[in-house]
Amino acid sequence: MSERPRLVLTFDLEDWHQIVHRALGVAEWDRPHPAFERQVGVLLELLEELGVTGTFFVLGMCAKNYPDAVREIAARGHELASHGFAHVRVHDQTPDEFRRDVAASVELVESLAGRRPVGYRAPAFSITQETVWAYDVLTDLGFAYDSSQYDTPRLPRRLAGIPSEPYRLEVDGKSLLEFPVAVGRWRGRPVPVGGGSYWRVLPRRVLFAALRGAAGPNAAPVLYFHPYEFDPEPLRTEGGPRFRASRQALYWNARRGRIAALLRSAAREFELLSHERYLATAGSGARSRSLSREGAVV
Ligand SMILES: [Zn+2]
Repeated sequence: MSERPRLVLTFDLEDWHQIVHRALGVAEWDRPHPAFERQVGVLLELLEELGVTGTFFVLGMCAKNYPDAVREIAARGHELASHGFAHVRVHDQTPDEFRRDVAASVELVESLAGRRPVGYRAPAFSITQETVWAYDVLTDLGFAYDSSQYDTPRLPRRLAGIPSEPYRLEVDGKSLLEFPVAVGRWRGRPVPVGGGSYWRVLPRRVLFAALRGAAGPNAAPVLYFHPYEFDPEPLRTEGGPRFRASRQALYWNARRGRIAALLRSAAREFELLSHERYLATAGSGARSRSLSREGAVV
């Protein structure tokens, strides 16, 4: 068995063009886009090269457009989990809307892959102090784990006191395991290092020092990426207000090519694995915690 420190490797399986085109008001935002299958192909090749399997949090409205991609991911041994259906932030939904959105994604993934997903991640980590009720819904729907908590200043109104290690979240007599997204330390200060934009901007030595610090013996720091971050072609939007479209593309293309290179380095130093594989080998030492009504982990 590997002695390397472990990082949980995850991807939010969503179509960048679908989400950005919807936000820009493009009329045909929902139609499949040729870039997506290229992105997933490159990503799956990279994971094959590194010999690792990860967890894919599948967005329902993306899976509906690309059922073969979802089947291919499962066939390669990766874990499929749920990212909800429509990528609406949890705090913009009522509890009933949230339940229907998550249930629809679970059913779709199960119908495509033959296995019911047991993990969930909220769109944009949007379980906040206003939406602690989301955990009632998730435990009710039978999820074994969630990975929606990220202690980064970029998420206003996030839950208070998010621990750095996985823990058992008790909710009204039920529970699930929570896997917070990776936050390390650099010169005594917390540095979010879960993925996405931080991997594009942090100096390499800061990123790796923080990852080493985060990956302690009981820890399972979670990394998260998206297929568009591995696209060898530049991301371009079509239609919509030109200024907003060009700003979007500029932001999302900046230093994007770094991510695959950094992931190759990370795979040499760390064991990268899916939630499923982590859970199969982890002890039962996760500490129990609960949420206060004000949205603090206690
Ligand atoms: Zn997402």
